[in-house]
Amino acid sequence: MQNLVLPHNTPFCVNIEGYTKPFLLLHPTCVFALRPELLRSTEMKEDETCPSDLRGKLSNNHQLLAYVSLLETNKPYLINTMRVPALQTVTMFSNSIDTDAACMRLVCDGWLEIRFVDEETASNTLSSLIQLRATWQNLLKLRLKEAGGKNKILNDVLKSGSEGKVHSVKGGIQINHYLTYNCLLDESEASIWGEYTSSMQKHWVCPRCEANLIVSIQERLEHESECQSKNFEPTQQEEAQEMEEVKQAQMNPLRKHYFCDKCDQGFRFTTTEILKHKKSHVT
Ligand SMILES: [Zn+2]
Ligand SMILES: [Zn+2]
Repeated sequence: MQNLVLPHNTPFCVNIEGYTKPFLLLHPTCVFALRPELLRSTEMKEDETCPSDLRGKLSNNHQLLAYVSLLETNKPYLINTMRVPALQTVTMFSNSIDTDAACMRLVCDGWLEIRFVDEETASNTLSSLIQLRATWQNLLKLRLKEAGGKNKILNDVLKSGSEGKVHSVKGGIQINHYLTYNCLLDESEASIWGEYTSSMQKHWVCPRCEANLIVSIQERLEHESECQSKNFEPTQQEEAQEMEEVKQAQMNPLRKHYFCDKCDQGFRFTTTEILKHKKSHVT
């Protein structure tokens, strides 16, 4: 995770990349140095259902700072900073995500911890993160194919092969190249519960292929990761939806047939689109 920092006792920031430059400063002209309250999450959950050690810290609104460059004078200053949503950014861009047995805790890139209040939130978040990262990966693959697929470095990055095995260093099961399930140990009182939840099977319907499955958390994650990354072909339902949309667009009464001599091709355009198209040939 490059160029991301965790705002910390402003004006200091901790680099998410970790350890190389632990303390960075906000430039004195930066809006966040002038108004540090902008970086504080506003709606902290103070409710009773929250575990006591997390009270006042939980929020789905935490933010990180992304920066464009570093100005290194006698001190390192962050230049061109902007706020980004923490959960989405961290789960999307970290190189590794480790979970406990119930997936209620995630540790990203070995040190940034994310905790969830309940199992449903945890499982929904994990589902979307697997889906988003698979989509991203597939789009990259598509680009690679278009570019001729000869870029060895990118190919290596996208290649995977360690799925479903025990992680040699961390323990736990490696679900895909970034996600390692059940390698975080729970606190002592929670460990029995963790063992219980990790082997418990539940009814689950895969949001992508709609398979009805009875699975443990590990099996669910494995299926989701496989399903999302391999089936780049759209499902029948998605295809039908796409066809419907195209049909709707074609049926638009404002569109009429237009034949362009220069392209030697027929289109269905609205009046504005015809004008735009004609213009595109002039310039
Ligand atoms: Zn599936
Ligand atoms: Zn044309």
